[in-house]
Amino acid sequence: MYTCGPTVYNYAHIGNLRTYIFEDVLKRVLLANGYKVTHVMNITDVGHLTSDADEGEDKMEKGARREKKTVWDVADFYAKAFQNNLKELNIQTPTKWVRATDHIKEQIALIQELEDKGFTYKTTDGIYFDTSKFKAYPDFARLKVSQQKEGARVKVNTEKRNASDFALWKFSPKNETRQMEWKSPWGIGFPGWHIECSAMSMKYLGNTFDIHAGGVDHIPVHHTNEIAQSEAATGKPLARVWIHGEFLVLKGDEKMAKSADNFLTLEKLKEKEFDPLAYRLFTYSSHYRQKLTLSCAALEAAQKALTNLRGHIQMWDAPKGLCAEHEKRFFDALNDDLNMPQALAVMWDMIKSNKPSAAKHASLNRFDSILGLGLASIKKKKIPKNDLLEAKKIDQARALKDYTKADSLRFKLEKKYIVETTTAGTSIIPK
Ligand code: AMP
Ligand code: ZN
Repeated sequence: MYTCGPTVYNYAHIGNLRTYIFEDVLKRVLLANGYKVTHVMNITDVGHLTSDADEGEDKMEKGARREKKTVWDVADFYAKAFQNNLKELNIQTPTKWVRATDHIKEQIALIQELEDKGFTYKTTDGIYFDTSKFKAYPDFARLKVSQQKEGARVKVNTEKRNASDFALWKFSPKNETRQMEWKSPWGIGFPGWHIECSAMSMKYLGNTFDIHAGGVDHIPVHHTNEIAQSEAATGKPLARVWIHGEFLVLKGDEKMAKSADNFLTLEKLKEKEFDPLAYRLFTYSSHYRQKLTLSCAALEAAQKALTNLRGHIQMWDAPKGLCAEHEKRFFDALNDDLNMPQALAVMWDMIKSNKPSAAKHASLNRFDSILGLGLASIKKKKIPKNDLLEAKKIDQARALKDYTKADSLRFKLEKKYIVETTTAGTSIIPK
């Protein structure tokens, strides 16, 4: 499995992180089904321009200027920050990390192969892939090339033969030394953004591998270009399955983007006292192919649900046995195109059921091998007898309709417990 990783010129925003959580769930489900997974993730540290149409500035060089650091330092800093985010979100590390700048040789070799096969042409600013020579291109891009217009926001590159053609190699601007540039058979410059993923995925996973994943924004440009250049070079399909995660959006469908100022990082969520794993849980509220709308209320609900979940486990006996029917329903939901909202509903249904707590505990631990909420490490907590008595007093006060007393007792207990009153009485769960 190959997953497109971050461009490390800034922190990842929590939208990006939704995609990595979805990919992690996919991987965990494959593992739970008994597959062996070799997972490669790249780190883009060169060549991603501010416009996906190969125009504008290199995002990395721009980041370096902003921070008055070298491009290399910026890349290291944000790559580490990203890896830290993954850890905090309990995202399993890929089998192999690969960096674009560590694979310049492989990228040049792939461009040469495309040149030998007649898929490239040269302009004053670089070597381009001629998409009209790759007949299947419009099918992958889900577009009509003849109707495609280059966005008015970018200066149209008049030397391009087709609007959808893309750079494989860009020359360093004349009279300007870039911090990142390499010699190549065509001149000093740097690789285009898309070529890195083709070169590195094929190097580590072979010309055809099983799964390629990323966010939906990659469908029309980045992944289409990866397919075109890889298949043009090898004559074989690049990946057997492509799978894309929908976006995290703000109210009103506004996109969260690193290049805009509206982005929220995991660090910011932590400052607002959200547990990163509550964010992970929040992302499960929507199917990966559906947009997910961020709101403070929804995040708070997820935080509460996580605390509640942890509290339940603290009350349960040590794991033993299983809740067979719930396990079947849980894994059936996941194997049905990763239906996480459904799987979560099954989980809550099991928690609320009257199955023995040891069986619930054992099944929940197995669920957590997919959910990744760190539930297995939670230990049983003994509740002091006195606190249990206080909880009983709430019910007694309620029976006497002394709600002021019931509320004041509840208020005290809520400092340490989640206090739940149902028709069966009041129960307290350690926070
Ligand atoms: P980037 O660092 O911009 O290359 O993006 C990293 C990953 O995040 C890619 O797989 C993108 O498709 C994905 N992505 C970007 N924005 C969002 C968003 N708002 N919601 C979910 N995924 C996103
Ligand atoms: Zn990629």
